Amino acid sequence: MNVSVVLFTSDLRLHDHPPLRAALDGSRRVVPLFVRDRAIDAAGFTAPNRLAFLADCLRDLDAGLRGRDGRLVVRSGDLVDQVCEVAAEADADEVHMAADVSGYAHRREQRLRRALEAEGRRLHVHETVTTAVTPGTLTPSSSDHFAVFTPYFRQWSQQPLRAVLGAPRAVPVPDGIGSEELPSRADLPELSEGLAPGGETEGRRRVTAWLRSDVAAYQDRHDDLAGDATSRLSPHLHFGTLSPVELVHRARKAGGPGPEAFVRQLAWRDFHRQVLGARPDTARADYRTKHDRWRSERAAREDVEAWKQGRTGYPIVDAAMRQLRHEGWMHNRGRLLTASFLTKTLYVDWRVGARHFLRYLVDGDLANNQLNWQWMAGTGTDTRPNRVLNPVTQAKRYDPDGAYVRRWVPELARLEGVSVHEPWKLRGPDRAAIDYPDPVVDLSAGLARFRAARARDRGTPA
Ligand code: FAD
Repeated sequence: MNVSVVLFTSDLRLHDHPPLRAALDGSRRVVPLFVRDRAIDAAGFTAPNRLAFLADCLRDLDAGLRGRDGRLVVRSGDLVDQVCEVAAEADADEVHMAADVSGYAHRREQRLRRALEAEGRRLHVHETVTTAVTPGTLTPSSSDHFAVFTPYFRQWSQQPLRAVLGAPRAVPVPDGIGSEELPSRADLPELSEGLAPGGETEGRRRVTAWLRSDVAAYQDRHDDLAGDATSRLSPHLHFGTLSPVELVHRARKAGGPGPEAFVRQLAWRDFHRQVLGARPDTARADYRTKHDRWRSERAAREDVEAWKQGRTGYPIVDAAMRQLRHEGWMHNRGRLLTASFLTKTLYVDWRVGARHFLRYLVDGDLANNQLNWQWMAGTGTDTRPNRVLNPVTQAKRYDPDGAYVRRWVPELARLEGVSVHEPWKLRGPDRAAIDYPDPVVDLSAGLARFRAARARDRGTPA
């Protein structure tokens, strides 16, 4: 066979890349292709922070390919049209790509398969490129997917993983295939100031440093907001600059409670993917509806705005919301407590929060974002759907000396220790000296309102 096309999507790397390996094994030349899919832009899913990270990833991928006698071909438009065009230009027999789980990805794959077959070409879709375990292969006896994490994790942990593939030495690309210019983050407006750099080189550097030292303390410190002791690999996993299979292998090899706890989080990622794969509607609809009649963004405009701006008067909530804007990333504990605050305390529709997160998160991911929001809103897979995270209790537990709040809420920087979590307790001139809002809601009133509204919506006693 002469030529194959490798379509890169959420797998922007050269190491451990089954589609690239299969293409190189089966053909003399390969066209590495990335298509900026117009439909994803039109759906509003492309946020500036993610575009910037993507630009870094594409540049790094191109550099890696150039170092192997190749280059990246970039196109934009309708993905199916563009792939067919490139395949025709290169006279390719086959196209290789990674499997994906969203409803849109499935429809796109089917369209692409039909279009290629109509021209006498074949599409090969490879599993375990963007997940460690293939979504849909593990099932309980009564359903096509797991709805509860713990039994899923039990099976997931026993699943044999395929071997890790090395990066290719050479990627010979045919001449004459036109490419658009590579995008650059320098051209993008409205980026978060503290946005992390993207690309496989950076991802591999980060994972090596992480596994060499910080992972050891992960089990004990992953909830320490100020300590910032998680891997921050989420954008690399989202864009596929790192392979989940390789990460699991490497973490298991490191061994010990820290790496084990880290591997468990990677399993959460696969868990959400198998849920979205089986129930693509949950990108928008409740996984398990409880008939909540949430307040809409319009009905709760002032509360939602205060939440988005980090001016709710609850310092821990505000600190996390400001971290999101500043870095395009938020600590998992922050995501949990801000999501609980919006849905359970303010009783606002989880979709409002999920949309705002997707506007900023560099790791913004349909499966992880929508299903984690639903988990916290109590419409998803949480087995305790009524749990409410009290922001003051959470603050005292996960930011015990207030360092996280002081980092992100400078108005409160001169308050010492744990007092920073309850500025409303200040009196007289001390209170007057800080320019910080009063709480938008009284916690017990908010909670009572949530319980009453939920009881009303579900027709059960409060
Ligand atoms: P680590 O703690 O180092 O974990 C390692 C990896 O495991 C992460 O990079 C991630 O890929 C995976 N992981 C960790 N926690 C979870 C989880 N709860 N669910 C699924 N996978 C997990 N994660 C995203 O990648 N994209 C999102 O859009 C996203 N939105 C979220 C929204 C809400 C409301 C909540 C509560 C969580 C969300 N998460 C999301 C999950 C989690 O918060 C992030 O993956 C994590 O904070 C990323 O930081 P890290 O890489 O340092 O994680």
